[in-house]
Amino acid sequence: MKKNLLIFTLIILSIFILGGCTKQDNEQYRAEGSSLNTYVSITLYGCGSSEIAENALKLCDYYEKILSRTDSDSLLYKLNNEGHIYVDSPEAEILSEVISIGIEYGKLTNGALDITIEPLSSLWNFGSGNESVPKPEDINVALKKVDYNSVEITDKEIMTGGARIDLGAVAKGYIGMKIRDYLLEQGADSALINLGGNIICVGNKAEGTPFRIGIQRPFEDTSDVIASLSVSDMSIVTSGVYERYFREGDDFYHHILNPDTGYPCDNGLLSVTVISEDSTACDCLSTGLFVLGMEEARKLADSLAGVYAIFVDEDYNIYYSENAEQFLSK
Ligand code: AMP
Ligand code: MG
Repeated sequence: MKKNLLIFTLIILSIFILGGCTKQDNEQYRAEGSSLNTYVSITLYGCGSSEIAENALKLCDYYEKILSRTDSDSLLYKLNNEGHIYVDSPEAEILSEVISIGIEYGKLTNGALDITIEPLSSLWNFGSGNESVPKPEDINVALKKVDYNSVEITDKEIMTGGARIDLGAVAKGYIGMKIRDYLLEQGADSALINLGGNIICVGNKAEGTPFRIGIQRPFEDTSDVIASLSVSDMSIVTSGVYERYFREGDDFYHHILNPDTGYPCDNGLLSVTVISEDSTACDCLSTGLFVLGMEEARKLADSLAGVYAIFVDEDYNIYYSENAEQFLSK
């Protein structure tokens, strides 16, 4: 009996040892493409294979088919149109989980993040190429439907209560975590996942060397950075006005909406970057903190363990929540 236990333990141990990967070469495996309405890339350093990188990339399409508000084949599209769905498949369970997380962060941010913003996002239609300022009466009609408290989730069913859900502020963070989990399961423990600026660093870049991640200077090329961060095993997500916007006359309109007014937030901020181990938290909070505005947002970030925020205001001044400066590259 004891001998069996010993053999069993040895097998388990060897699985772990073989499953892990000591970076023996400088090989990189990279997969990139268009998904989630953006440019996506996954780079593995030393461990893994091209196949693992490609499979990780394919996960984006899998989750998009569940969480997209615009794809008429997606599960979220069906939920928004039918008002309810049964949680009777792995995909419905995922949708239920992401909506629950969105609601949780809605509460945490006092409604600044509101995943039932969909009637307003559809109305403004940022990124469509033919945007214009909606009529105030249309904004008022849409605003009445925005309230995450309408949504009800049980083990068996998701009910929208007449609301319509947009997971645009949440989904990339969640998908990033799922890709990270997949890579780690495959033994690829050194990787950079970039989902259109939502960054997840898996492990270190090389033994003991952190990843260096730039915060984009608002409205400039992605290579023009306003601050450079050094991180390992962390996610970095930025919500910025420059990601989707249009101008009408002298006025500027961007895609981060104030759920109280129905209009883009006009609070002097250009971007908010959140750093934490959990990229879903980063995504929810980057949007939520943006909407809260710097003063409230800093208080909230300071109250959350392991969450750090960096703010860029319209004069390009940079502000940090407590201890966020520790990540600045030396
Ligand atoms: P992000 O780029 O993560 O800040 O998310 C912005 C996207 O989330 C927008 O394009 C909208 O689809 C959606 N959104 C905008 N404002 C809000 C809000 N206040 N709460 C939740 N989602 C929002
Ligand atoms: Mg977000």
